[in-house]
Amino acid sequence: MNRWGIRWKYFFYFTLIIIITTAIVILIASSELRKNYINELELSLQKQAEIIGIQVKDLVRRGDFAGVDALVKHMGKETGTRITIIKIDGMVVGESEESSQKIEDHATRPEVIQALNMGIGKQIRFSTTTKEEMVYIAIPVKDNGKILGVIRTSAYFTPVRKTLRVVNQKIIYTTSALIVFALFFSVLSSNALIKTIKEICLAAENIKNGEFSTRIFLKRKDEFSQLANSINDMAESLHKLFNDLTVGREEIKTILSSMVEGLVVLDEKGKIVLANDNFRNIAEFAKPNIEGKFYWEVLQNVEFDALIKRTQETAIRQSQEIQKGEKIYFANAVLVSNVKDKKIIIVLHDITDFKNLERVKADFVANLSHELKTPLTSIKGFAETLEEEIDKKHQPFVETIKRNTDRLISIVQDLLIFSELERKERKLEIESVDLKVLVHNVLKIFTKKLKEKKLSCEISLNDDASLLKADPFWIEQVFINLIDNAVKYNTDGGKIKIDSAKDDGDIKITIEDTGIGIAKEHLLRIFERFYVVDKSRSRKLGGTGLGLSIVKHIVLAHNGKVEIESEVGKGTKFIVKLPKG
Ligand code: ADP
Repeated sequence: MNRWGIRWKYFFYFTLIIIITTAIVILIASSELRKNYINELELSLQKQAEIIGIQVKDLVRRGDFAGVDALVKHMGKETGTRITIIKIDGMVVGESEESSQKIEDHATRPEVIQALNMGIGKQIRFSTTTKEEMVYIAIPVKDNGKILGVIRTSAYFTPVRKTLRVVNQKIIYTTSALIVFALFFSVLSSNALIKTIKEICLAAENIKNGEFSTRIFLKRKDEFSQLANSINDMAESLHKLFNDLTVGREEIKTILSSMVEGLVVLDEKGKIVLANDNFRNIAEFAKPNIEGKFYWEVLQNVEFDALIKRTQETAIRQSQEIQKGEKIYFANAVLVSNVKDKKIIIVLHDITDFKNLERVKADFVANLSHELKTPLTSIKGFAETLEEEIDKKHQPFVETIKRNTDRLISIVQDLLIFSELERKERKLEIESVDLKVLVHNVLKIFTKKLKEKKLSCEISLNDDASLLKADPFWIEQVFINLIDNAVKYNTDGGKIKIDSAKDDGDIKITIEDTGIGIAKEHLLRIFERFYVVDKSRSRKLGGTGLGLSIVKHIVLAHNGKVEIESEVGKGTKFIVKLPKG
């Protein structure tokens, strides 16, 4: 079909051109021939009419109509022309073909009327006398300027038609021959073309299959050779590009396999597009083809699954700790999207050693704190006994021992809380916590201190914002630390305000005081461990610098948020957002 496509098209177009040209030639030639032929015929008929007119003029004038008819018949036979002599009144007095008596009156014939009016009449029409189409020429017969009648010469139109038909037939025969020639020529000319096109197609197919060394060599020097050169150049460029890409890919492969981290790239549906050897090791995937598999076929892990889902939903960078057997990984996932598609890149860092070290450290701090707590309590007890036993002069020494022991005890207590938080020994036990009860209980602890500093406390806890979803033990610790600070860093006779409100499905609790406030430059670091604004003041007040970092730690563990606003000399406001119960 393809092979014949071009041929038939060529043939069709050639034939169409020939037929159209022929039709135009026939139309023009016929009309020109017809015109010429008629002109010639009319001229000869006119000449004959003029000659006959001279001869019949006298006979007509004399009224010798028999003589006229005889002369006309004789001349008609000689010349092969039909001659008719019509008197001015329309009566036919001489007719070469028929008996003039049989012929009807000719006064109304258009050529006769034309001849009388304009000096010559010309007509091609059907003759009622001869029953054939004829060419008529009529001129008046004059004698000394007086019109005696009209002489009409006429010839059959049929020979003209016949000649035209013959000419047309010849043209059509020639056309048919030309069409056959067109077929032959289209086959011949398309053969070479098809051969060239096949050559180019074959080369293109080879290039498509990766045979970049393929080249096309054509003998012809035309547009096809230009096309062939372009394809040759394209093959060369592709070859170079392919080589560069292969080298680049190899480089990336080497880099990826030398990475200590596990790396995996997923497509939008979760299928693995790329994974390095370390990811295979982490997933313990031994089969050869990892690409094209869904990630859950390779690594079944709830945290990994959650990380990918979260990344897909939020489209922002996400991270997650992943436990796989004895190992702990820190996974970072990022969604990269371009016009065509979206991909998730996940990098897994092995943090098992770091986590172990952290645990050892937390264990060490916890053990140390435990070990220190008993002797410190005993020192405090003995110091109190000693205080009663010794004289006034030595009392200040015992006071110092007691104050420092208190400070050490609170540091040890805070460290214990911290290490417990970090070791996650005590998992959060989330339940519904009544904020009113909680604040009430915590304030009880501070009754004495509030009185001492003459502090007033204003509590406005909204009824529809008083239930929290939290671990009661840890959340109590948050309020103890924040209220403790509000008392500690307040001025005598100051105020503490605690209120709550709903905030986007969370509960916003503010603990505000009218104390000394914190300078702007400290606000960013205030939640760091052991960070204190004024060391001596904090020490005097029994501070450890751990309270706020414990607060932050606990609030974050509840998926909450803690913020601070403060102005020196005016007071401080802590805003805690926690999930609603
Ligand atoms: P500390 O045990 O020293 O109170 P925190 O971690 O609780 O440790 O607080 C860190 C520091 O932040 C404090 O030393 C104090 O300077 C400052 N701070 C905390 N709360 C307040 C407050 N309500 N008003 C003024 N300063 C405060």
